[in-house]
Amino acid sequence: MALSPSVCLQECKENNAKFVEAKQSQTAFIASEDPLQNLCLASQDILHKAQQSGRSRCLQCGGSRMFYCYTCYVPVGNVPTEQIPLVKLPLKIDIIKHPNETDGKSTAVHAKLLAPDCVNIYTYPCIPEYEERDHEVVLVFPGPQSISVKDISFYLQKRIENKGRGNNGGPDKPSLKRKRTEEEESCDLTENKCKGTALKRIVFIDSTWNQTNKISTDERLRGLLQVELKTRKTCFWRHQKGKPDTFLSTIEAIYYFLVDYHTELLREKYRGQYDNLLFFYSFMYRLVKNAKGAGGKGKTELTH
Ligand SMILES: [Zn+2]
Repeated sequence: MALSPSVCLQECKENNAKFVEAKQSQTAFIASEDPLQNLCLASQDILHKAQQSGRSRCLQCGGSRMFYCYTCYVPVGNVPTEQIPLVKLPLKIDIIKHPNETDGKSTAVHAKLLAPDCVNIYTYPCIPEYEERDHEVVLVFPGPQSISVKDISFYLQKRIENKGRGNNGGPDKPSLKRKRTEEEESCDLTENKCKGTALKRIVFIDSTWNQTNKISTDERLRGLLQVELKTRKTCFWRHQKGKPDTFLSTIEAIYYFLVDYHTELLREKYRGQYDNLLFFYSFMYRLVKNAKGAGGKGKTELTH
């Protein structure tokens, strides 16, 4: 069956709009029995078929894999690329993974497979320099300094203003600026919202939470504005022991960030545009859930 994401979007539009409205009216995302059931997804027939026929060869490295190759970031032979949905993202995404992270367990690969033009994966400590661009880049990472998605424009704007002051030098100019009233500030903010936002790139760290702290405190990342997604609950099947269920898997974090970005920063109605980012994730989630239900004693893991 040929994939037609646009038809899917149309069909799902009504249901999805209701779902999103419901989501927006809540401060917390309430995980239902199957929290991924209302997604607007392309047909997963190809994944069903691939799962039945078993592992296949990676066309690049020849490795035996299920669905996709986690080292080459390409689908395997029995999952043709043209049958995988292509998701268009409004922002560039950099994912920094810890070298010790097991590639086969990472959900970061899903983002690269589904939005290859917008996503780059780096292995720590080889990461880009963000210092010159820290007014248009944010790091998604929970912590005491982190702000929420809706406040990103405000804080990036402040950085842009600070940079402007720094460049213009002159002792008089900053004091004049400082006298601006709060009303003027909020006016600027409104203007900025109309134009969109300064945000161009988001950085995610893909690693177990114990290793994440080391990366987030790297001096190349420390200066970035940190953003936290506080209200989403994970359905990650490898939910990490001792961590609250708001600690998301990487693909969930990317997805929920983009939904919030769309509704809170772009101020547009969300109609499922990024749901296909969970194309693999939702399928694998159901596989694991069904396996557990069929007597897997909660230990079943989807391995590649
Ligand atoms: Zn490969």
